[in-house]
This record gives sequence, structure tokens and C-alpha cells, in this order.
Amino acid sequence: MAENIKRPTGTEDVIPRDIHKWHTVEKIARETAESFGFGELRFPTFENTDLFMRSVGETTDVVQKEMYTVMAKETKFTLRPEGTAGAIRAMLQNGLLNEAFPQRIFYLISCFRHERPQAGRLREFHQFGVEMAGSASPAADAELISLGKKILDRLELKNIVLKINSIGCPKCRAEYNKALRSYFSAREDELCDTCKERLVKNPMRLLDCKSPICQEIGKDAPLILDHLCEECSDHFEKVKKYLTAMGIEYTVDPKIVRGLDYYTKTVFEFVTTEIGAQGTVCGGGRYDGLIQQLGGQPTPALGFGMGIERLLLVMDKQNCDYLVPKKCDIYFATMGDAALDKAMELCRELREYGYFADHDFMGRGLKAQMKYANKIGSAFTVVLGDDELANNKARLKDMDSGEEKEITLDDKFTGNFDSYYIDKMLSSLDTGADDLAFLPLTGEDN
Ligand code: ATP
Ligand code: MG
Repeated sequence: MAENIKRPTGTEDVIPRDIHKWHTVEKIARETAESFGFGELRFPTFENTDLFMRSVGETTDVVQKEMYTVMAKETKFTLRPEGTAGAIRAMLQNGLLNEAFPQRIFYLISCFRHERPQAGRLREFHQFGVEMAGSASPAADAELISLGKKILDRLELKNIVLKINSIGCPKCRAEYNKALRSYFSAREDELCDTCKERLVKNPMRLLDCKSPICQEIGKDAPLILDHLCEECSDHFEKVKKYLTAMGIEYTVDPKIVRGLDYYTKTVFEFVTTEIGAQGTVCGGGRYDGLIQQLGGQPTPALGFGMGIERLLLVMDKQNCDYLVPKKCDIYFATMGDAALDKAMELCRELREYGYFADHDFMGRGLKAQMKYANKIGSAFTVVLGDDELANNKARLKDMDSGEEKEITLDDKFTGNFDSYYIDKMLSSLDTGADDLAFLPLTGEDN
């Protein structure tokens, strides 16, 4: 027998039984972003490699070790390792940055990084991201952070802390880099090879190195917060003031520098300790220089990315509620060909009304069909046989209560079913039954 081909290491499948978890996160993220004025952007999975070299930064882990790059007919393409670069490229190319500011977009995308796979660290992972361009105001930073927080709150995640920092602008960075260089030079020999290079090109990256030795050496490194220029320091104070006014708790963590080069001023992470080392469920910040770097007019901007797999790890761990997956509304158990014909016809009609209607395809016996209807959680069943067809009547069974009602098999069938269905929905609301399958799938509370 031929050997099964397996999915590549570091990738995951999501089967229909689990997809409602993804839908929950996607729906809440999307609706919340829309309520903050963000519109959805779609853009390619791969871009010209130069885009990432110029934005993410040549001394970052992402560019140095993690990108999937292919040479296709003499052009170098890279599977996007993150969303911001492609999103800004698309906003520029489509003229959005010539329209009224602020421009606000969100996206739900897959990203690709060649990393060592572990819980919460994949080679293909998914992000919900937002970008807001045009505003330099600290109110925009607070707004974005509050959007991230709102999404996490609506998903009912607990024990998530917000860490913020400011990594200044190129002006303060120059001073800070000097301080870092002199600090790390003392122990240059012990640094990893990448960091030796970083010491020359981009010393702040040293603080983001995952090697335990580099981390240990960096423990007492000078802090950027002590090197902020007046403007950056003032900006940071205002961001904090707004967050406090919004009732959003945070801690200032001067060690956060983020893994991508384009950040300036505010950077932030929402972190949980509940899923091990990969606890950052959301990370973002301001990147006032990026748009110009990519060929646009100087335009202040900011954004964040949320790792969906990581969110789901936390939600599973915390037994958070998910939207209830759609279950079968009505199942026709059939005996004989004429009954099957009728079931097919009624299913077609019910589906026109948006019902999930189903019948047997396997030639199972009646008992096995009922068992199957139970298994797929059908709310109602109808048995169709010769008698039912001859009388043009059948019994509609409520699978929860066991209650049966007579229903005619004529053109009133769907209308009658509709009213029984609504009755059932209302009575399940009355009794406060915790089977919420009948609640509309909007609302925050299901
Ligand atoms: P980390 O320090 O955890 O590697 P990062 O700084 O590389 O994160 P970002 O580029 O800011 O991450 O990406 C934003 C979010 O995307 C992260 O906070 C995380 O939730 C998620 N993420 C990043 N890399 C991965 C990955 N390899 N697998 C799953 N999720 C990821
Ligand atoms: Mg990383």
C-alpha cells in the first residue's frame, strides 16, 4: 500500500468539528474591529522578498532565519512572515493613503515562519491584524490597545496582562544604541554570532535574542526609557494617561522591543502565563517611519497582530465559550424509494428557507437512521414510509422532548415546520436551557 503523505511539520489542519472555535475568534475580532471603524483588507500570501527586507529588517530573526523564500523565474518571492508589510504595501498601491485619515484596516491571514515548532509556535500560523495610518496622536495608540483589549475581553480570556513600552524614535535610538554598544562590547566575545553582527548593525535587536547566554548578558543592559527624547517621552506619558482614563490596566516593561525593526515609540504585548513560553497572544506598536521607508509620504501609523492559534490555546485551557456550531434542524428517516424522493424534495424546500435539512444516503435501516440523526444532533426527525406517503401526513418528532406532532407533507410543510421550530426556540429560551443551539449566532453572550 502507498504510504500516506503527512502534512508538513509545523502546520495544522482544522476539521469541521473544531471550526466553530475559529469562527468564534474570527467573528468577534471582525465585528469588534468594524465597530472601531476598521474595514477588511485582503492581500497576497506572498510578496516580493524586498518588501520584507526593507520593512521587517535585515537584522531581525524573521528575516535572517525564518522566511520562506522561493526563486520563481528570476524573481524572489517570500511567503508573508507577518501582515504589516503587505498591508501597508497594499494600502499604498491602492491609494488608500491619499484618502481621508485615519485609514483603518484589519485582516485575517496565514503567516509563515521557519521556526522550531512547539506549542503555540507553528510554521504556518494565523493572525488577526489591524493597521491604522495617519494619526500621530497618542490617542490612536490608546485606541488601538483598547481594540485589542476589547477583543480579548469579548472572547472572555482571563489572566492576560498588558505590557507596554516605548522604544523611541530614530533620534533617541541613536543615543540609546551608543549606550547599548558600550554595554555589550564588554562581553562581545560571549555573544552569539548573530548578536555580534547586531552589535554593529542594530544593537537593540540584542535584547530580543532568544539565546539564554545573550539574554543573561543583556539582563542589566541600559533601558530605552532612560534615553527617550522629550517628544517620545511626552507621547508615552499621554498613552499611559489615556489607558488609565479608559480603565485599562498595564505594566510598563522596558524590556519589550518587539521582533520587527519597524517599530517606533509605543510597543505593547498582551501576555498570558497559561500556555507556557509562547505567551504573547497579541503584539504591536507604532511604526511612524515604515510608510516612508516603503516609498510613501511620511505617515505615522500603528498596528497589532494577534496569533489565533495562541488565542485558541488559552481559550481551550480556560474553557471559554465558543459559538455553538450549526446542527441539523430536521432529519428525514426514509423507508423505500418513494419516501426518499419525498425527503429529497422537502429537504430542497427547507434549505431554501435556510434550514439544515438532511436525509439518509447510505441505505441504512430505520433504526440506524434514527441513531445517525441523534449523532448529528438533529433537533427534529420525520419518519417517511408508505403509510405516511399514502396519507400525506407524518409525525414530526422533537428529539429533545420526545414530543410528536402531526405534520402534512404538502406545500404547507415548510411553513408548519417553521412555526414548530420557532416554538421550540422560544420555549428553550423560557426554560433557560443551556443548549443554546437555537439562539441566533450573533450576540456576545453565547
Ligand atoms: P514571539 O516573540 O512569540 O516569537 P513575535 O515577536 O515573533 O512573537 P509578532 O511578529 O509580533 O511575533 O507576531 C504577532 C503575534 O503572532 C504574536 O504575538 C503571536 O501571537 C503570533 N505568532 C508569531 N509567531 C508565531 C508562530 N510561529 N506561531 C504561532 N503564532 C505566532
Ligand atoms: Mg518570533
